[in-house]
Amino acid sequence: MSNSFSFTLEAKRGHARAGLITTPHGRVQTPIFMPVGTQATVKSLDSADLEQLGAEIVLANTYHLYLRPGAARVAQLGGLHRFMNWPHPTLTDSGGFQVFSLDGLIDADGVTFRSHLDGSTHRFTPDTADSLQHQLGADIIMAFDDCTRDSADQHQAAAALDRTSRWAEQSLAAWEKRRRLSAQGSYQALFGIIQGGQHHHLRRLAARSICQLPFDGIALGGETIGYNSAGTVQVMDSVRELLPVDKPHYAMGLGRDPADVVLGVNLGFDMFDCVGPSRLARNGALFAGRLSIEQPAQGQTTANAGAFSFRSPYRRGRLSIARQEFASDRRPIQPDCDCATCQAGYTRAYLHHLYKTKELSYFRLATRHNLRFMVGLTEQMRSALVR
Ligand SMILES: [Zn+2]
Repeated sequence: MSNSFSFTLEAKRGHARAGLITTPHGRVQTPIFMPVGTQATVKSLDSADLEQLGAEIVLANTYHLYLRPGAARVAQLGGLHRFMNWPHPTLTDSGGFQVFSLDGLIDADGVTFRSHLDGSTHRFTPDTADSLQHQLGADIIMAFDDCTRDSADQHQAAAALDRTSRWAEQSLAAWEKRRRLSAQGSYQALFGIIQGGQHHHLRRLAARSICQLPFDGIALGGETIGYNSAGTVQVMDSVRELLPVDKPHYAMGLGRDPADVVLGVNLGFDMFDCVGPSRLARNGALFAGRLSIEQPAQGQTTANAGAFSFRSPYRRGRLSIARQEFASDRRPIQPDCDCATCQAGYTRAYLHHLYKTKELSYFRLATRHNLRFMVGLTEQMRSALVR
């Protein structure tokens, strides 16, 4: 495996794209949904489960691993891949989003925040975010950014954007200085992040500035993305034509519902991640529904005007396993689902029982289904695109 990163665009239909990413730890076929392993584990699953459900790349959170067990310890133990026993591609975020969620104190050079564990004070800057991600050693790392709140007015959003632009250049400089290599000596691709809140002219300004820098990939970040579908569509629409075709486009945090990923692919994005599918599984919401490749005949919105749409008999594509109607239902969660849980013959009735009795096995069985559902969805779109 070569010690470098590349992206090849393989097919395009409308704005939807299929591509191939290569990293030192293997390839990633896009579009791709990336399961989130916040603490270097996807809750309730092991590496064999992740391989079986077709995950090609797993995300871990720098902020959490910095607090426990510490990035230096992960480096000592051979880096994230060895530590997690996951030999395939990985991605870490810069910690910017978590620090923002904790109401960190932002100044010109970085963010000071309190640990959610013990209230102790810490500080992240573009340099520390680079150094921590260098120690962790993921194949794809993120520039440190100021994640803009939706409520930010134009003035605040512009100031945040200004910081993000400066921090993007500092992140690049730190990465160049260490020759783009992890502590374990493998190439780390650095992605830049477009911020700008819900102000479209700021988003376009950010896109122009980030896209002209020598990043390996371009990400779309912010509070809106993944949490506000209408806002996400507008932001994607406003920056799409400015994104370089020869780099991967990553919608950060998008993918809570199956329809979100379909929407993102329709709008030209290649990579998606969200804690939603695994968290929803643990809370009893199991995905059911189908991808449709036909153009919707009527009621078109920007969200479904692309190559794909998602239909489900359940609201937001979620079956609530706690409902009494499933207590004697002998069917799998979705009869034609190819996940290990449905294929093994576990019934809705049994999952209903495990959920109600809070049995630990429920978490694994449910998580495998929801994650396979999302990964399978991106696989189906990819097959249709490269056909
Ligand atoms: Zn299933």
